[in-house]
Formats: sequence, C-alpha cells, structure tokens
Amino acid sequence: MTREEVRGAIVNPDPAAKRVRLPVWFDDVRWHQIDYLGWRDLRAPQLAYLVTEADGQAWGALLRQAQNRATPGSRAVMCDLCRSSRRFNEVSLFTARRPSRDKRERLNARGLLLCTDLDCAVKVNTEPVRQGSGPEAGDRVEERREGLRSRTIAFIRSVSDAERTTRHRG
Ligand SMILES: [Zn+2]
Repeated sequence: MTREEVRGAIVNPDPAAKRVRLPVWFDDVRWHQIDYLGWRDLRAPQLAYLVTEADGQAWGALLRQAQNRATPGSRAVMCDLCRSSRRFNEVSLFTARRPSRDKRERLNARGLLLCTDLDCAVKVNTEPVRQGSGPEAGDRVEERREGLRSRTIAFIRSVSDAERTTRHRG
C-alpha cells in the first residue's frame, strides 16, 4: 500500500486533523509479514490507526485508547482481533468513532479490545501451535493470520457501515 492509499483508507478520520500522520517507519513496513498496519500518532499517543486490505482495497480506522480501568488484580484479557490471552495491561480498550458530521453520532463509538502495542501479528506468528487431533488441531499460523485479517476488516467495515446507516436515516 502506498502512503496515499493508507491515508485515504481511514473511514473515520478526525475532522479536526488536517491529515493522517503516518508512522516514521512507513518505508520499512514488511507488508507480507503483517495482517494489519497499526501505529500510534506520535503527537497524540492515545490515537492509533489500523489499516488492512481486502479485495484489493485498503480499509482503515482511527481508534482512541480508553483509560485503562483494569487493576493489577485483573485476570488475563483476550484481544478481539488476534484472540490471544494476555496480561491485563497488554490489552486495552480502544474506541472508533463513527464517521459522521453529527457530533452525537461520532460519540456513539464502537469498542474494541486490542493488543496495547498493536502487535497482534507478533502474537499470531509466535504463539506455540497446539498439536493433536482435538478441536485445536486446526490452529495453524496461517489460519490465525487469516482470522486476524478477517476480524480486522470486519471491525473496520462495521465502523464504516455506521456511516451509511446514519446517512440513510438522516
Ligand atoms: Zn491482538
């Protein structure tokens, strides 16, 4: 994906921001090793972007990290995208605002529990693959990556679909 494709992919850009700030390491992205491109806005670290590709088209969403309400006693939390169970502080709640001109609609956001470091790709590639003939036997790295990719695109589309619903209503 090119810089312009990635910038243009964000379905819910911040109306106050002039343009999407890409990561400084954009030229070093190894596209074949990741299932989404995830990065934080250096000037506003609570803002994060997720971009992936489906059917030859780039799709992306702007996320905001919510305050972490978990306490050190909390148990493991599962990331909604890579389905890895991680320590409470390694998964955070992010929200994606609806792409609407109406402020009340924008505040009606969708939530996502996501690896805090946006490193799902690392998890799906490095977690041990379970052996055996049980229901987990199909748990291969390629299948995990496919699942991660399809859940990512489903989430971004759900944010984007909210816009269409809003438009039809109003
Ligand atoms: Zn994850």
